[in-house]
Amino acid sequence: QEKDYQFMVRTKNPGGFVPVQLYLTLDKLAEEYGNQTLRVTTRQGFQMHGILKRNLKSAIAAIIKSMGSTLGACGDINRNVMAPPAPFKNQPDYQHAWQYAEYVAQLLSPQTGAYYEIWLDGEKAISAEENPEVVAARQKNSTGTIFHDSEEPLYGTHYMPRKFKCSVTVPGDNSVDLFSQDLTLVVISNDQQEVEGFNIYAGGGLGRTHGKEETFARLADSIGYVAKADVYDAVKAIVATQRDYGDRTDRRHARLKYLIDDWGVDKFRSMVEKYLGKPLEASKPLPEWKYEDFLGWHEQGDGKLFLGISVENGRIKDEGSFRLRTALREIVQQYNLSMRLTPHQNLILCDIAPEQKQAIADLLATHGVEPDPNAISQLVRYSMACPALPTCGLATTESERIVPSVLQRIEMLLNRLGLGQEHFVVRMTGCPNGCARPYMAELGFVGNGPNTYQLWLGADANQTRLAQVYIEKLPLDNLEAELEPLLVYFKQSRQPNESFGDFCDRIGFDSLREFTSKYEFQ
Ligand code: SF4
Repeated sequence: QEKDYQFMVRTKNPGGFVPVQLYLTLDKLAEEYGNQTLRVTTRQGFQMHGILKRNLKSAIAAIIKSMGSTLGACGDINRNVMAPPAPFKNQPDYQHAWQYAEYVAQLLSPQTGAYYEIWLDGEKAISAEENPEVVAARQKNSTGTIFHDSEEPLYGTHYMPRKFKCSVTVPGDNSVDLFSQDLTLVVISNDQQEVEGFNIYAGGGLGRTHGKEETFARLADSIGYVAKADVYDAVKAIVATQRDYGDRTDRRHARLKYLIDDWGVDKFRSMVEKYLGKPLEASKPLPEWKYEDFLGWHEQGDGKLFLGISVENGRIKDEGSFRLRTALREIVQQYNLSMRLTPHQNLILCDIAPEQKQAIADLLATHGVEPDPNAISQLVRYSMACPALPTCGLATTESERIVPSVLQRIEMLLNRLGLGQEHFVVRMTGCPNGCARPYMAELGFVGNGPNTYQLWLGADANQTRLAQVYIEKLPLDNLEAELEPLLVYFKQSRQPNESFGDFCDRIGFDSLREFTSKYEFQ
């Protein structure tokens, strides 16, 4: 008899959009086939763990029939396209960003029929209408970017050298962690608030390997600007450049970030322009980037409200008096509300009529869910952890299961040091792959053996600067002993309103180490 192999199923939801039917289907599947939980990923999708092989086909078929998909959520291909999750209806740039996230997802979607043959016995799913312009752009051979003779006009027979991650955002909104993406489009609108074109960033990526200097986290570079009419060709040109020149001999060196790092931005841009058939323009000026989580109640701008709910480590579950999963099922069902998943593993309930607000707040309260982001721990609010043990085969240590106790210990330490009001971005992963983007955190923990972590410091709260490794191996038992001097130094020498990440970056690691070496514990 065959073993009971278990699988993880991950959905692809451009811009994190989850329609009502899809959510209810996923909730049901988690109950029947999964481990009774759903997990919001850091790329605005859902993961379900523990699906037995014999249930895989029914589970995936049910997702596809509910207008969802898992196609391209994994593999050497374009992954879920991210976009800011706030459903602002009176800010056209947000609408443009969701629309183009969907269009880029369509443009880079694999064309193989194998997916439907395997999971739906060949039946073509009733899927959302594709934009005819995108379909035409997919087929168009813009200066040699497509293969005519392949089922996959863009990916050919060999697909991409490695995974490829995209996002679309609006000026100033860095909720998508844009510097960590292979490719980001920033919507540039005219005075009538119509899309004129896009600033392009490329070459971000966080995955690395311990002890291998040649692997590193890297921030995306600003590449240029493209007019709206050329945006699909520009995206294809960038994908084709990585497809044709990305390293296929060494998977550790295969992401776009290494190609751009090896070539330099100018050479990369020239190659993209060659595929595009015209030069990119200079990037348009942008305001500063700000990281937002959109938690709590907000006006949508069309008379309705949205509610961002903090989901600790993205895990939607029922546990004791905390019954988030039941609450969400009832709310989505009763009020017919779609949701958007956020890149910070939280979720937003959209299109709430003002008269529904109180009933929804009451329902959450009776299920032990706190909708006010200021009433929860601010460390928890700004933290993320990857699943790691026991569900991820690459994990070298704990992450999701241990991070609540780590945050509690940091909170106790902050209170003891008179820094109780302080909070910063904490992220933890069970290995250097970096799924919860720890290299962009003010305090990043990266698994480096059992109960041991690298400690990364110095990124900023708006996720525009990379952290650096401060401690190579930090056994978790030494957490307070290592953090106390850093926090005391921060308290003594910070500038007004300076965040912990900015402080570590300004003071520098040599100074932090010197202070630590002379520190007398209180
Ligand atoms: Fe697994 Fe590593 Fe990703 Fe965590 S960071 S989920 S341990 S691959």
